Amino acid sequence: MDHENKGYSTRSLHTAFPKNDAYNSLHMPVYDGVAYDFESSEEIELSFAGKKFAHAYSRTSNPTVEYFEKKMKSVTGAQAAIALSSGMAAISNVLMTLVEQGGNIVTSNHLFGHSYALLKNTLPSFGIEVRFVDMTNLNEVEKCTDSKTRVYFFETITNPQLEVVDIQALSGLAKEKGVVLVCDSTVTPPYVFNSASFGVDVEVMSTTKFISGGATAFGGVVLDNGSFDWTKIPALSSYVEKFKNESFMVRLRKEIFRHLGGAMTAHVAHFMNLGLDILALRVDKCVENCVALSQFFKTNSAVKSWSYPGVEESDAFALCKKQFSGKPGAVMTFDLESKERCFEFMNRLQIIRRATNLNDNKTLIIHPESTIYSEFSDEEKKEMGIRPTLLRLSVGIEDVKDLINDIKEALG
Ligand SMILES: *Cc1c(COP(=O)(O)O)cnc(C)c1O
Repeated sequence: MDHENKGYSTRSLHTAFPKNDAYNSLHMPVYDGVAYDFESSEEIELSFAGKKFAHAYSRTSNPTVEYFEKKMKSVTGAQAAIALSSGMAAISNVLMTLVEQGGNIVTSNHLFGHSYALLKNTLPSFGIEVRFVDMTNLNEVEKCTDSKTRVYFFETITNPQLEVVDIQALSGLAKEKGVVLVCDSTVTPPYVFNSASFGVDVEVMSTTKFISGGATAFGGVVLDNGSFDWTKIPALSSYVEKFKNESFMVRLRKEIFRHLGGAMTAHVAHFMNLGLDILALRVDKCVENCVALSQFFKTNSAVKSWSYPGVEESDAFALCKKQFSGKPGAVMTFDLESKERCFEFMNRLQIIRRATNLNDNKTLIIHPESTIYSEFSDEEKKEMGIRPTLLRLSVGIEDVKDLINDIKEALG
């Protein structure tokens, strides 16, 4: 079946298996083994020489994981995909594949906390320079770019600031400067956002969040949209002659991924495959709940301010409509009078859970200042917009009237 013109859910559900299962299972089986049997010494020699593809050892490739990669390609249209053990594995592997010692990365300091720490501390310790700017200001990004800049790295909607970059504009600058545009689109999964249409070269996602289908497993994925000329990247210089436009993925798969050992397991890939199939239903329900909660927050005097980029009151509304099909994820923020009031409110909640994850099927709440950002200095918190009065809500798929009642009662 040709899936090119089909919708998201049809493509996800009907991605063909690479090989028919012996029992005609409708699900791709979970191939939970480590090693694979070869018919002959000649066959194993061909496989090791890279002349004939066959699964040999599950840290480097596994049939169930490969099927998840195939599904990701099918729903996004990406040229190549690779699944890893977590979102952080995906991000660190991509940056280590693209940037050589002495090269630099331009990024925002409004990032997922561990990505920020990776860029602030870990990568510089290997001789990679990182420059933090306001990515929504193209002049600033341009000023920070020089002949050693290899990557612009940004998140599609930052959290908890809920800031949105004009991706096409940033892509224009990246193209002009010969810099790889890498986005982390964890909060705007493939059903709502197609990164290639906005000029992103490489897309990374933590599949732990929306894709896993309700916080069932850890995972990450990297997609190559096939749009970058890899001859411009010194870290790929020994690959480009032989591998041309596959150079990035070949170095990632054959070198960085294999040597750092961040493989996804078959069981996890099974969860990801199931989650991907019902992603559209879950995202639609989450967005519907966010819009209804926005209406409630608007009229409640205990809520000092609130933010969700999917409604007209948000400055990012138009951009979210254009970039994310008007469905900009399910993270909302709001402010109460004081930190004490936030704690008291959280403690009274009965349905909404106090937890740090995003895009579970359950609605989760956290007070970012005292938790995720507790290791940061006051100055850093201020720069990141982390106020003591701020709460972050990751909206799930419950019946929204129950969520509103829970919040109403907890506000007292
Ligand atoms: C959670 C998250 C990550 C890290 O993903 P893990 O799967 O926890 O390693 C990276 N980026 C964003 C935006 C996230 O929300």
